[in-house]
Order: sequence, then structure tokens, then C-alpha cells
Amino acid sequence: MKGLSILGSTGSIGVSTLDVIERHPDRYRVVALAANNNVEIMARQCQQHRPDCAVMVDPVAAGRLEQVLQKTAPGVKVLAGREALATVAAMDGVDQVMAAIVGAAGLLPTLAAARAGKRVLLANKEALVMSGQLFKDAIHDAGAELLPIDSEHNAIFQCMPVNYYNGLAATGVSRILLTASGGPFRTLPLDQLEKVTPEQACAHPNWDMGRKISVDSATMMNKGLEVIEACWLFNTEPDFIQVVIHPQSVIHSMVQYVDGSVLAQLGNPDMRTPIAHAMAWPERMDAGVKPLDIFDIARLDFEPPDLERFPCLALAAGAMAAGNTSTAVLNAANEVAVASFLAGRIRFTDIARTVAAALENVPGCPADSLDNVLGADEEARRFAESRVREIAA
Ligand code: NDP
Repeated sequence: MKGLSILGSTGSIGVSTLDVIERHPDRYRVVALAANNNVEIMARQCQQHRPDCAVMVDPVAAGRLEQVLQKTAPGVKVLAGREALATVAAMDGVDQVMAAIVGAAGLLPTLAAARAGKRVLLANKEALVMSGQLFKDAIHDAGAELLPIDSEHNAIFQCMPVNYYNGLAATGVSRILLTASGGPFRTLPLDQLEKVTPEQACAHPNWDMGRKISVDSATMMNKGLEVIEACWLFNTEPDFIQVVIHPQSVIHSMVQYVDGSVLAQLGNPDMRTPIAHAMAWPERMDAGVKPLDIFDIARLDFEPPDLERFPCLALAAGAMAAGNTSTAVLNAANEVAVASFLAGRIRFTDIARTVAAALENVPGCPADSLDNVLGADEEARRFAESRVREIAA
């Protein structure tokens, strides 16, 4: 029986994780659930899964949850505040931690899980983007395990040779082909991009996801963040990774080998597949996902990304190449810009402009301490907020 803490349980990945767990009550037990302030969903999850504890970062929400659970699930201990996230990520009885808090808020609890030697099921790509080396060092030093949940990285992991950590070239890998759907605006005339609404940006053609990652998919910043994530996970450089637009989202990514082979992982676009894979690895288990009907797939299309339409791709690769805290700056400015777009303060096309300006103006420093990373994050947020105020004025 494996114990799980689910950070971000009320979100899209959290809900899919609980769905997989429900199918295997003999193998998995929910030890802790954590979220920001969604009392209604958290209360339902606690009543159903009876964890030992539930965290609400917002203290007012924690108080309300405690009241509701007193009557409906009295055994569940309610904790409040950001520090409680790290507590439930590192506590005894937890074997696996689903890191599915959105954004930079997920960094510290995900690091806590790594430092405590847990199996980290990593959906929160922002942790690797902000502090790749620190995070990998923490995993290594504590003997923790890092399993990717992002469907592309999970696919790459499945297609890699078993000894890939000895170096990709040394193990016969010649390229990573990172697939991308191209999002909802792949074919929209370029002059209409600045008028798109948050609702249009969040209407992803293939995946049902949270609002922040949906906007990131529409700008393709998500793919940019994924290139950085792949560099850290598979110890490589952006030049080794080819982004491939594949609108059907059936192939989740591919690995090309020196002998001419290309291995691909296919499946219906459903996050329960990578979640179940990472939880059960190296075994396999039912994820509740509809089997792929190969005869139903009329065709598979591929095209190179259009960098004029998707400037965020180049910004992300540039930040990775620049090193230091540039990727933390990129991530923080993007979070501010996306939240501002969702709030109707700036246009869709202002997202890339805000991130580019932050990368130009916020000085980088070595990303060798958490203080430096969090300092860069804070400075980039300040800069991006002032730029948003200027645009919105
Ligand atoms: P959602 O927006 O659906 O859910 C976000 C979760 O994080 C919620 O549980 C939310 O709690 C919690 N949360 C938000 N802010 C805070 C905070 N400050 N402190 C603590 N908890 C917080 O996001 P997704 O599930 O879509 O994405 C989660 C992560 O997984 C992201 O990093 C994303 O990039 C990654 N990912 C998602 C995929 C998907 O298909 N959705 C695919 C691949 C990666 P509350 O509900 O209380 O606000």
C-alpha cells in the first residue's frame, strides 16, 4: 500500500489523480490533500477519500473547511498556510507526492518532497523551470525519484533507453521530438491574435486543463517551459530538442535514435495515462482511459512551429541558453502576464511583450541558491506588474 500526498488536489491534475487512485484502493491510500482556497471541492474530496490531513493555504478557507468537516469527516485534520504544504509533502507515511500546484507556488513544497526522498510525480513544471539544478541536486542527494507527469515528458521517458542518464549521445539517442498541439490559435489569422478573449484562449482543442496552462498552450509558452523542463529531466540542451506541431495530440512525443529508429508513445489525450504510469512505474496499471482506436485515427499531421505566431517559444529557449536565473524571470513574468490577460487587463499579444521586456530588464544572477531564485522571481514579478500597469493605463 503506497501513501500519497496530492498538492493541488482540487485542480485538473489533482482530480485526475484521485480518479486513478479510486480505481486501485488496494494499492494506494490518500494521506494528504492540499489546495489554495477551494473549500467546496476540498470538502467533497475529504469526505470521499478520508485523508489524514487537508491543507488550505488560505487561513479563512481552512477555517471554513474545518467547520464543514467537523460534521462530515471528523477524522481529517485541517492545516492552514503555505508552510503546511511542505509539511504534508515530507511527512512520514507518504511514499509519493503529486506536485500539481500551478505556478511558482509549487516550488517549495515540491522541493520539500524531493528533500524528504519521496517519489515526486512532477506536474508542476515551474519547479524545474525556476530552479532546475537545485531541484535535481535535491532529488539526487536525498535518493528521491522524479517521474514526469507532463504527457510529453512522460512519453519521452517511456521511449528513452533504460540507461539514458549516462548521457543521451552515449546511449544512441540523436534527438528528442517534443510534440505540441499548437493550441486554439494555430491557424487564426495573425492580425486577429490581439483581439482574442480569455475564453477563446482557454478553449483548448484536445485537452481539458486549468486556465493558466491553457493560456500557456495558446501562446505556446507551455511548450517553451517544456523545452526547459526536458533539458533538466534528460540532461540536454534546447538544440537537441525539436518542437513538432502535431494537431491531433495522439503522439505525445518521440525519441529519435542514431540507427534511424524513432520511438513514439501514443494514446488518447487523457492525463490519467501519465499519472497512472508514474504512480505504478515500473509496473503498469489500469488508468480508466479509453483505449486508442488506431483505425479511428484517420491521419496524423506534423508541421514545424511558426516562431512569428509563437514568440514565447524563442523567449524560453533564449532564457535556457542564457542560464543563471533567466528561466525564473521568464516564468515569473509569464505568470503575471497570463493572470493579467485572464483578468482582462492586457491583450493576448501583450503576454510575450511583457515577458520579453522582463528578460531584457531584470538582471540575472547565478541560480545556485534558493534565495537567488526567489529574489529573481520577486524582481521579475515587480517588473512585469509595472509593465502591465503601463500597458493597461
Ligand atoms: P488547475 O488550475 O486546474 O489547479 C491548480 C491547483 O493548484 C488547484 O488545486 C489550486 O487550488 C492549487 N493552487 C493554486 N494556487 C495555489 C497556491 N498559491 N498555493 C497552493 N495551492 C495552489 O491547474 P492544473 O491542474 O491544470 O495544473 C497544475 C500543474 O500541472 C501546473 O503546473 C501545470 O503546468 C501542470 N500540468 C497540467 C496539465 C493538465 O492537463 N492540466 C498537463 C501537464 C502539466 P484551488 O483550487 O484551491 O485554487
